[in-house]
Formats: sequence, structure tokens, C-alpha cells
Amino acid sequence: MKQIGMMIDLNRCIGCRTCVVACRNYHELFDHQTADPDNIPYYLRVESRVQGAFPDLTMDTWIRPCQHCPEPGCLDACPEGAIAKDLETGVVQIDEEKCAGCQAETGSYPEEKAKSAPCTATCPAHLNVQGYVNMAALGQFDEALKLIKKENPFPAVCGRVCHHPCEEACSRGEKDTPVAINAIKRFIADLDLDPETRHVPAIKAAKDQRVAVVGAGPAGLTCAYFLAREGYPVTVFEQLPVAGGMMAVGIPAYRLPNDILEAEIRVITDMGVDIRTDVALGDDVTIDTLREDGYDALFIASGLQLTGRLDVVGENLPGVHSSLDILKDAALGNPVELGEKVIVIGGGNAAVDAALTVKRLGAKNVSLVCLEQRGEMPAWEHEINDALEENIEIINGLGPMRFVEEDGRLAGVEFQRCTAVFDEDGGFAPAYDDCELTSMEADSAIVSISLVGEREFAEDGGIALTSAGRLWADPLTLQTRLDWVFAGGDSVHGSTSVIEAIASGKQAAASIDRYVRGLDLKAAEERDWTMAGKVFREQYDTSERVAIPRLAPEEREGNFNELEQTLTQDMVMAEAKRCLNCGCACMQSCPFGVLQFDGKAGISHKCNFCYDLITTGQKPVCAEVCLTDALTVGESELLKQEAESRGLAIIEELSRASHLYVK
Ligand SMILES: Cc1cc2nc3c(=O)[nH]c(=O)nc-3n(C[C@H](O)[C@H](O)[C@H](O)COP(=O)(O)OP(=O)(O)OC[C@H]3O[C@@H](n4cnc5c(N)ncnc54)[C@H](O)[C@@H]3O)c2cc1C
Ligand code: SF4
Ligand code: SF4
Repeated sequence: MKQIGMMIDLNRCIGCRTCVVACRNYHELFDHQTADPDNIPYYLRVESRVQGAFPDLTMDTWIRPCQHCPEPGCLDACPEGAIAKDLETGVVQIDEEKCAGCQAETGSYPEEKAKSAPCTATCPAHLNVQGYVNMAALGQFDEALKLIKKENPFPAVCGRVCHHPCEEACSRGEKDTPVAINAIKRFIADLDLDPETRHVPAIKAAKDQRVAVVGAGPAGLTCAYFLAREGYPVTVFEQLPVAGGMMAVGIPAYRLPNDILEAEIRVITDMGVDIRTDVALGDDVTIDTLREDGYDALFIASGLQLTGRLDVVGENLPGVHSSLDILKDAALGNPVELGEKVIVIGGGNAAVDAALTVKRLGAKNVSLVCLEQRGEMPAWEHEINDALEENIEIINGLGPMRFVEEDGRLAGVEFQRCTAVFDEDGGFAPAYDDCELTSMEADSAIVSISLVGEREFAEDGGIALTSAGRLWADPLTLQTRLDWVFAGGDSVHGSTSVIEAIASGKQAAASIDRYVRGLDLKAAEERDWTMAGKVFREQYDTSERVAIPRLAPEEREGNFNELEQTLTQDMVMAEAKRCLNCGCACMQSCPFGVLQFDGKAGISHKCNFCYDLITTGQKPVCAEVCLTDALTVGESELLKQEAESRGLAIIEELSRASHLYVK
């Protein structure tokens, strides 16, 4: 396909905005009588940057119209198929007949509609939720999957384990109940598990620079996925015999079956990522040997692999275990012998998972004891409900004082009353009343308090640590103090979630790509995820939220069968139709934020490169009126040659699609 583009010369652009005004007039972007001067749509905006230090400052200005991307995000996101690339010119066009403005009602607030839907804005990885939900409503499951996989390599995993902050924020919740976004995603992802037909993302031309990743958890594997897509050879080093991190050895199989995880990891290896298991950083390789082996960048995503210590008497007795060890042994099929009466100490998700796992492994009587009162427990609400459904006794407000020994092994635990968990500033500072004691007999105790990371490899390799003992990395770039080493996921951010680890891996991949290309890491443009506040929708499908099928508690006994089931296609399509379409799907997928929303016509619109002019041999209006001749139009490849012949350097960080920014 031919691709027309524009060469924008920063030496010439003076930021005068003549082109912006001419463009508005030519495309009749506002009604002079009624337009609010602060809210006039535009097809191009002037951007600027200042470089250097006073008094040697330089200021550059340039225009940002639609970039007519080779692989337009907006095109992939539109459920109506209203956006297409013209084969003759490569211009991206919106078909006004097909555009439904994401079901905009007449008089929609253009400002609100142009913001991100709450679901997309609150998803840590900013999946285009509105886009894929509406594709599902129309039965376009392949398109929906591709849209999801642009941002998330683990949709089938997330469809099962994500804590779905998108649903908390979903505007439909204000009317009745949120859209069952995660269950919709799970259905879409489950259609793609067949190795014969599954979607493997396209890989760009191979690059020479090699990247090493330590840790095959969601952060490390996501980073590998995005770098592999860019064409980098990536090797992942994992200390365990299996890949997946906590997805494989933490989250139990009744919530995330192994074959689901393996299928999604398989896509990453099919993309050429080399995952080497049983290789530990610190023992088998070091930061220095990886450098010597010729890796150009390293991403450390080693997670938090140890359970913190309680520092109470008897903690080392036989019969006292950590939840991570028990969950890992259960996942790897190692024998777990705990006896009939088990006490789990802790109030987080790992504690609940350990309790439900040992119940399935045969423990008759499982109690979960924690410092927090019920409303303070860090475990997610749905996990606590699972525990209650399966007759796990939850005892709140007790802290362990000592593990009781009998015949050289654990016989019970003595607790004291916890009177407060947090101090006045909300910091963790438990206070006890040691006059009020409770003793409980136990065959085994499982300690499941805060998770901590291993530090030795970091200290030996010169990676700085935070005061909390985690790896230090710049919050924006994830670069550590060693310029070629990046770090992310739980090892940097503390215990988070799979989707936050995915977001971190994606952020690291973007930084590493910039690093190896020699670009300024901090100059990356950040998307504005301001959330639509008001949904202008009186008419909507008032159906109730779908009930997600689950195994009855008695069906879960003694097995690791999946607790929640996948919806049927009919259920998914009906549920997806409940979406209120808070924003516009295309706008949420445009990395340059150049789409506009026309409230009166109820459609989105944008620069079409003055298609009528350029296809009749004329210049687009902006280039025609430019006072300094800063804009040259032509075939993108020829423009590159012209830039070279004129001795102009291409500014890589601005030239991310079809237009060339040169200086
Ligand atoms: C029991 C449990 C249940 C959870 N349930 C959920 C849930 O339902 N939903 C959810 O969203 N989140 C859940 N989480 C949290 C989620 O799993 C984590 O936040 C996420 O996995 C963190 O990803 P990560 O890639 O940073 O680290 P990890 O998943 O921990 O992966 C790190 C990997 O690095 C490897 N590694 C560590 N050190 C080295 C080394 N020196 N050399 C080589 N490899 C190394 C580890 O073996 C591991 O495979 C749960 C966590 C636990 C512990
Ligand atoms: S109603 Fe639809 S677009 Fe709005 S937040 Fe919910 S899922 Fe997203
Ligand atoms: S609207 Fe945005 S995503 Fe679509 S082609 Fe233009 S710049 Fe690219």
C-alpha cells in the first residue's frame, strides 16, 4: 500500500497556528455564531518542547494532525467497522455513514464523549474495554480478541483472576449493576485457546539488540511479549522449573487451571521468546555475566518470593509452613501433609487461597485467623466470600503470640487480642491486649503475612533498594541506577495484582525499546486517561447483569475443578449490550489523541489529510497556507530520502507513524 505522509521541519515551524485556523475554516469545524471559543474542535494542534538549560535554551514547535498510522489503533477499535485505510494513499478515513458515535444520543456532551470510558481509564493496562465489549455485543469475537491482545498477553488468565477495577468504575453501576466486563473478556479469550487456530501477534522486522528478562511471571513475560512484537530477541531466565510466576505457583488451579496459563505462555514462546527455566539470577547467572554475554538491556521482574516472618516463639517448629510454600507444592504436585486441623494466619488473598487449597487437599477443619476486623481484611471481597461458602472459619482481631510445641512439633497456636491494626496515620502498627489470650489446637499452621523479595542478587549486582527492601526503579521509566537494567512488577511495586504486573511489564518494554534505540526515556508522551464523568444516556437496555455460573460448594470438595465457569455466547452478547458506551472506542485507542467528537452529528471525526485536495494533485490546506514552508507532502519513503538529501535528521520520538518530524 502506498503511504502518503508529511515532512514537518522543526527548523521552519514557528508555531504561529495559521495552519490550525485554515484547517478549521476549510473543514467548517465550528459554527461562528454558536461556538464556544474554548471548545472548538481541531484537526491539528501545535505542540512544543524546550531543550537545554538557561541561558542556552532552544524551543521547537510542530503540528500534530492524525498520523495516518500504518496500523491504526482507531481502526482496530471501531466496532462498527467505520474506519478504514485508503489503499491508494494510506489515508485513514472515517465513514460518517457507518460511524454511530458509539451510540451517542443527539446532543451528547462532546467533551464527555471525548474522554476515556471509566472502564478503560481505570484498567491498569488501559485495555480498550469499551471497544471489545461492544465488539462482543455484535458477535465480533476475533476482532475483540485482537484488540485485547494489543495491550494484554494474558486475557484468559485475567478473565479468571483479575480483581477488575474496571467493573468498580463502570458507569452502569450507577444505574443498577456494572457490566460483567471480566466474564466477557474470559469468553472472548477462551475462544482462542486452540493451538491450531490461536492468534499469534505479528512480529516486526528482527532487531539486533538482545534483551534478557529475569522472572517469568506476568511482568517479565509481558515485557518479553511486547519486545518480541517489536522484533527484539528476548531470553527469559526463570529460577523455577515452570514459567508463570505466581500465576503458576501462587494462584490455585481451581481459580486458574494450568492449561489456560500454559496456552497463553505458549503464544509468547511461539513469538520466539526463549524461556529458560531452572536458571536463577544470583546463582546460575549474574547481572555482570548477562552483560558479558552481550545482552543490551535487562529487565528484572523477580516478584516477591518469600513470606515475611512473624518473629514469635516456635516459628521454626515442624508443622509451621508458609502459604507460598504450600501453594507452590500443591501447584507442582509435591506431597503436602498437614493433618486434619489447620490454622492459616493472615487476612490477605494468599491466606484465603492457602485455606481453600488445604481444604481441597483433605484438611477437615480450616480456620483463618487475622489481625484485621472483617472490613479491614486485605483479601478481596469475592475471595472472602469464597472462603465463607466453603466453611472456612474466619476469626478476626487475633494476633499470634507463640506456636505451642508438643513432642518436638506444632500442637497449637496461642493468640492475643489485636486492639488496633493501624496507627493514626494509617500505617501498619498493630496494638495488642496480651491479657486476652486465645489458644487453638492445630496439626499445622500456615503463615501468610506480607510477601518480601530476595535481595542478594540486587545487592551483589549494584541495584539500589528502597527503604522497604524492594528494588528501586524510576517510577516513569522503570530504569534502575544501572542504566541498562530496568525493574518492575511486584519486586518494585510491592504485592499488587496480575493486571498491574502486566501494566508494569508493558511500561518496561516501552522504556527498553527507547533505551536501546538511544532515545530520551523521559520524553515519551503520556496519554491522558481523564475519565468521562457524565453519561448522557436516557435510553438503554435495562436487562439485569448476568449471573456467572459457579460450582456449588459441595461440588468443590476434594478437587481443583474450576470454581467459576465461562459464560455462553448468548449470555455474553446479552451482557455486552448492557454497556452504556461512555466514551468513543476509537478515541481510546488513538495513541496521539487526535480524534474529535461532534456532539451535534453524534460522530467522531478527524483530519483526513484533505483527501479531496491531495487526490487531485493539490496540497492539504495546512501545507498550502504555511508561511514558512515547513510542511512537505509526499510518499513517506520518498520523504525519508528527501530529508537525508537535505541533511535533515529524523526525530525518532516524534516520527512514530507516517509523518516525519525532522530538524
Ligand atoms: C497466593 C497468591 C494469589 C494471588 N491471587 C491473585 C489473583 O487472584 N488476582 C491477581 O490479579 N493477582 C493475584 N496475586 C498477585 C499476583 O499474582 C502478583 O501480583 C503477580 O504475579 C506479580 O507478578 P510479577 O511478575 O511481578 O511477579 P511473580 O508473579 O512473582 O513472578 C516473578 C518470577 O520471578 C522468578 N524469580 C524470582 N527471583 C528470581 C531469580 N533470582 N532468578 C530467576 N527467576 C527469579 C520467580 O520464580 C517468579 O516466577 C496473587 C498472589 C499470590 C501470592
Ligand atoms: S458502561 Fe460500558 S463503556 Fe461505560 S464504563 Fe461500563 S463497560 Fe465501560
Ligand atoms: S486517528 Fe490516531 S490511531 Fe487513527 S490513524 Fe490517526 S493518529 Fe493513528
